Amino acid sequence: MRKYIVAGNWKMHKNNTETTALLDEIIAKKQNTTTEIIVAPTFVNLKTAVDTVKGQNITVAAQNMHQAEGGAFTGEIAANMLTDIGVNTVILGHSERRAYFHETDGLLANKVDTALKHNMSVIFCFGEELKDREKNNHFNIVEYQLRDALFHLNKNDWNNIVLAYEPVWAIGTGETATPEQAQEIHQFVRELIAKVYGNTVADSVSILYGGSVKPDNAKEIFSKPDVDGGLIGGAALKADDFLAIVNSF
Ligand code: 13P
Repeated sequence: MRKYIVAGNWKMHKNNTETTALLDEIIAKKQNTTTEIIVAPTFVNLKTAVDTVKGQNITVAAQNMHQAEGGAFTGEIAANMLTDIGVNTVILGHSERRAYFHETDGLLANKVDTALKHNMSVIFCFGEELKDREKNNHFNIVEYQLRDALFHLNKNDWNNIVLAYEPVWAIGTGETATPEQAQEIHQFVRELIAKVYGNTVADSVSILYGGSVKPDNAKEIFSKPDVDGGLIGGAALKADDFLAIVNSF
């Protein structure tokens, strides 16, 4: 059985005080659910987040990390710094990291390896830009991203990989992929994984959709057979909206 997951990527929002307040509100209003809830605050607030959600069935994730074990990399964060404070999940390959910080699939392959070596779970983001979709090249782009960053992994590694399809043109734009557009890519990706790794891996990997998911469109998107949840940006910054999405299965 695949896991249903709703993850909030807080990006560069919420200071320490606001982080605690938002988590307290999520904890207070959260209903019992089998959906895995993940929150990804900024690095400086991860420890606070871990302490705040203790015992609440909420996973705290980092939004990025460096591929090296440590060293002279000013401003960067290593895997063991995350696991040491109880953060065992990391988002890698977000389109904003790719676009503004020049992260390539080759680099991301190294980051994924480092994360797995530290027994971390990875939420790996991929997705085409508008220009790719306009040229009807979106299937190719998605395939290359996954091949270059992930297809060197062995079957067992996939136990710790969650995929997040985030079409760049739908992020923060209010423009959502239609549920059919999301399903079409998710199904394509699952079939691709089945070809490379077999049906057992393909059937067990959770594939999330991200890009302008809101309380009023989540249910329809999540109802698609190959959509196993969402990676939420803007709507994850308000407890009521985020929990409405969590409750949309
Ligand atoms: P929005 O939900 O704000 O479009 O952001 C999506 C996203 O980038 C999540 O990682």
